[in-house]
This record gives sequence, structure tokens and C-alpha cells, in this order.
Amino acid sequence: MLSRRSLLLSTGLAPLAVQVAAAAKGTHTRSVAVVGAGAFGGWTALHLLRRGYRVTLLDAYGPGNARSSSAGGESRVIRGSYGAKEVYTQLVARALVLWRENQARWNTTLLHETGALFMAPHEDESQRASMRALRNAGLPFDHFDRAEASKRFPQFNFEDRDSMIFEHHAGYLTSRRACETVMEGFVREGGTYRGVAVKPGSMEGGEMQGLSLSDGSTLRADRYVFACGPWLGKLFPEAIGKKVLPTRQLGMFLGIPSGAEELQEGRCPVWLDSGAYYGIPGNNYRGIKVVGHTLSDDYDPVHPWDPDSGDRLMPLDRFREPREYMAFRFPKMKNAPVVESFVCQYEMSPDEDYILSRHPDCENVWFAGGGSGHGFKNSPAVGELMADLVDGKKTEVSGFSLARFPKKS
Ligand SMILES: Cc1cc2nc3c(=O)[nH]c(=O)nc-3n(C[C@H](O)[C@H](O)[C@H](O)COP(=O)(O)OP(=O)(O)OC[C@H]3O[C@@H](n4cnc5c(N)ncnc54)[C@H](O)[C@@H]3O)c2cc1C
Repeated sequence: MLSRRSLLLSTGLAPLAVQVAAAAKGTHTRSVAVVGAGAFGGWTALHLLRRGYRVTLLDAYGPGNARSSSAGGESRVIRGSYGAKEVYTQLVARALVLWRENQARWNTTLLHETGALFMAPHEDESQRASMRALRNAGLPFDHFDRAEASKRFPQFNFEDRDSMIFEHHAGYLTSRRACETVMEGFVREGGTYRGVAVKPGSMEGGEMQGLSLSDGSTLRADRYVFACGPWLGKLFPEAIGKKVLPTRQLGMFLGIPSGAEELQEGRCPVWLDSGAYYGIPGNNYRGIKVVGHTLSDDYDPVHPWDPDSGDRLMPLDRFREPREYMAFRFPKMKNAPVVESFVCQYEMSPDEDYILSRHPDCENVWFAGGGSGHGFKNSPAVGELMADLVDGKKTEVSGFSLARFPKKS
């Protein structure tokens, strides 16, 4: 729950004295402004604060707000299987440690380690690469065939699936609540949160000179991080532009039949079905969340999705296929009603890898974005990497720098 003080801060109504008193707790002489209190910004702000910086976190609509990429659908999968992209498996291993440590500190549960079941038609190179990476990262898993899968998880129909990986410590995160919880923790530890929209200030001598805020004021800091999710390209048309494209994503929750406890969290894991849909059970008895495949829109250059003004309404003709799939894969879900639907957006980079990088022309500005539909799980580890960049411990994070793109992309 929000305390009165954090509620004031989250709505931007905190008296200046409260904000200043909170900021004064930072011991570092240097200040950082982090724009965007979603998954990437919230954790970046928290890590910087813990390193002693005086940190102000700013957001136009609030942490985990309904327009952001971190909120729609309420939950996000965390899993270490990433095929050949082992760097993400390593990040997940670190993120799991940080989620556990911090939720214990905040006396809450954000990480639900339900396990995650990956289903594939047969063992392929991607599964073999995932298993190598999981072993290297120390993330336990089992690998089994259809017969074994049917014994362990009789609520599934494993027809046309013959190679399953079950990751023990994978599961899901309550994403909207996590953003709010991170911000509350940040404020309790002495950070300042302000509910304002931000425009980047002018650049002189290769440095940003300040931020223009929607309340008419300006904010100056020594360093700036922009973690603005799908808004990054709009905010920095030159430096980011089309390197972060918002794409509309749809999803639904299907109600579980009464008494079908084997489909609830605790007995049913998170599942990911190769090339098709994935799902999350439970989360306050919401039913089964179904996402993926036919529910994912590509970028539309003619009518680009706008995270500020887009209506979050799922078109009626998009419900049929996932419902048919669910009836096939989970026989008890035949005719299950849609109990919720949602619209959210990915913030896609050209290669679907994150962008954690310094501004190419500005010494004191960094970007954290391009989560590309898989950023949430790793946000605590991303925040740590961003703190390393801002702190000067690292000059770049291999694979995530803007330098990997041609200048004019
Ligand atoms: C349907 C769906 C399913 C997903 N599933 C998964 C999953 O299973 N696992 C996973 O790991 N990831 C998943 N993702 C991806 C993940 O949620 C995102 O990559 C991640 O949440 C992005 O976080 P972010 O902080 O970069 O952006 P956001 O959460 O969008 O945060 C950006 C913030 O910046 C603020 N902002 C923007 N512009 C300004 C401005 N000018 N001034 C002030 N504030 C500003 C916004 O209000 C917002 O709060 C999914 C995403 C979607 C949409």
C-alpha cells in the first residue's frame, strides 16, 4: 500500500520541502535525473541512489501506468531459456537474485516462481543452446518427452509436442505492482519522485543543460538517464528515432472452470508453446493469461501505434484463434469465457536487443530502452548495468550499445 507521503510524491503533489529533504539523504555530491519510472527507469534510479547519488525519478503518468509497456496485462514472464542469446540467461540469473533480495526487503511478493514449461515439437538447436546456457548460469531445469510431460502435467494436451524443458525457478512477476513498489522503495530510501512530463533540455558543449518540466519548472542534474520505453524515439528523433518502435500487443484472460485447481497457480506452471502462445496462470485468480502469436501486431508505418493516444480496446475478431488454441491445448478450457482483455505495446529495437547506451553526442545523457517485448524480467539487472554506465564503471555494455547500429538507421 502507498503511504500518505509516497502517495503525495507519486502524484507530484509533495511539498517541495519533502522532496528536498528526501533528496538530501543522497550522500554523493553528484545528482542524476532519471526520466521514466517504468521497469528500466525505476530500477536504474534505485541502484544509483544506493550508490550514493542524489536521484530524482520523473514520470509523466506514474510508475507502471496504464499507458506504459510495463503494465498492460499486469504480469510478465521470467525465464532463462533464450536459445543462443546466452547474455540474457546470465542477466536473468542476476535478476532473479535481485528480485528475491528486494522483495524480501520490501516484505512483499512480486516474483512467483511457478516454474516454466517450454514445449517444442522436437529437440532443436534453440533448445540445446538454452539448456547449455541454463547449465552455465546455474539455473536448474528438467528435459523430458511427451510421455513424461503427460504424467507430470495431465492438464495439458501435449499432442505434436515432444521436447519439453521445465525451468524450476522461472515464473512470473506482477509487473504493474512491481513498478509502484520499486518507486515506493526508492522514495523510502531517500530518492525523490515527481509526477511530471519531461522535455529534454538544450545541449551545449556536448552536455545536456537541464530538463523542462510540465509544471513550468526546469530541473538541472549532473547526469540524465532517459528510460522512456515506447516514447524514446519520439523524445529523441535524431539519436533514437526508429531504433525504438512501438507495436501494439493484445492479450486476454480466460476464466478457469470452477474446481479446476490443476489450472491454477501452484499446480499449473507458466507455459510457452513454441511458435504459438504462452500463458500465465493465477495472479489473484484472474484465470489464464494468454499472449503471443496472432495477438502480436507488427509495426505499422501508415498508422503507427501511439502510446499517448491509442485506445486500449481489443478488436473482437482477434479473440477466436487463441480461444481455439486454448481449447486444444487445455481440454478443460473449452468454451472458457474471456474474463479480461488488454492492449499494451512493445518497444522494439531493430535487432530486438536492449539499448543501454550513452547518447552519441552528449556526455552526460544515457538511454535505457528497447526492451522489445522481453525487458521486464531483467529490469533489476538492467538498472545495475545502467548504474555502472552512469558511474563510469563501464563505458559500454557489450551488445547493448547504440554503436551497434549504422549511423542512419
Ligand atoms: C503484452 C506485453 C507482454 C510482455 N511480456 C513480457 C514478459 O513476459 N517478460 C518480459 O520480461 N517482458 C515482457 N514484456 C516487455 C516488458 O514489459 C517491457 O520491455 C518493459 O516493461 C519496458 O519497460 P520500460 O521501463 O522500458 O518502459 P515503460 O514501462 O513504458 O516505462 C517508460 C516510462 O516512461 C514514462 N515517460 C515516457 N516519456 C516521458 C516523458 N517525456 N516525461 C516523463 N515520463 C515519461 C512513461 O510514462 C512510462 O512510465 C511485455 C510487454 C507487453 C506489452
